[in-house]
Amino acid sequence: MDRDQLIEHLRFAKEIGVSGVSSDPEWRRREQAPAPASTFFQDDAPPMTIALTQVEALAAIRADIGDCTRCKLHTLGRTQVVFGAGNPSAQLMFVGEAPGADEDLQGVPFIGRAGQLLTKIIEAIDMKREDVYIANVIKCRPPQNRNPEPDEVATCEPFLFQQIDAIHPKVIVALGKFGAQTLLRTLEPISKLRGRIFDYRGSKLIPTFHPAYLLRNPSSKRDVWEDMKLVKRLLTENDK
Ligand code: URA
Repeated sequence: MDRDQLIEHLRFAKEIGVSGVSSDPEWRRREQAPAPASTFFQDDAPPMTIALTQVEALAAIRADIGDCTRCKLHTLGRTQVVFGAGNPSAQLMFVGEAPGADEDLQGVPFIGRAGQLLTKIIEAIDMKREDVYIANVIKCRPPQNRNPEPDEVATCEPFLFQQIDAIHPKVIVALGKFGAQTLLRTLEPISKLRGRIFDYRGSKLIPTFHPAYLLRNPSSKRDVWEDMKLVKRLLTENDK
């Protein structure tokens, strides 16, 4: 990390309410999540076997989606399917709403302004983007970034469920109303859902505010920081 990146990192930490940092290596050891390999892999199976199976499972889901024409979004200006990105054996998975303009062009989720904020949120809990897996409820960009419509969610959500089952993360963070309401099958507002821990398909699920909402409402970054501290605590707990 160069000097400018460090300054930006510390500025962001201050903004979300991090109370301080320490250069004591002991402190870092206590705070840091264990490396995925140390808790993920089972004793009776060689690590590569499991990793490959997850890679293969995701590849099969991607192949099944193909150049999707199952819902009307393929006729409404989308460039490509944005499947998901990250570590196939991630312990932490983020679920957003739908690709925006940047994601639609590049085929990668969360790379626009909201995505850059998500990257900072991930780094705030001492992880890297490459450690986690990121996907959306809807794999194609809705025109003018309008909200996904119920038929689009219904058509696309089975692929998200398959991705979750393939990755089987320890913790899922649902970003914003669509991610949280779709996964939890609820109409409760995100303001009531955030910060709570739900059991979900063998994972723990924590809803929090969407980074795009944080760009419009920076004062809510503190709530997200509280939620992310909870995420970190769950990740460091031993029971998988
Ligand atoms: N917002 C989302 O919900 N997903 C993206 O991939 C980008 C922005």
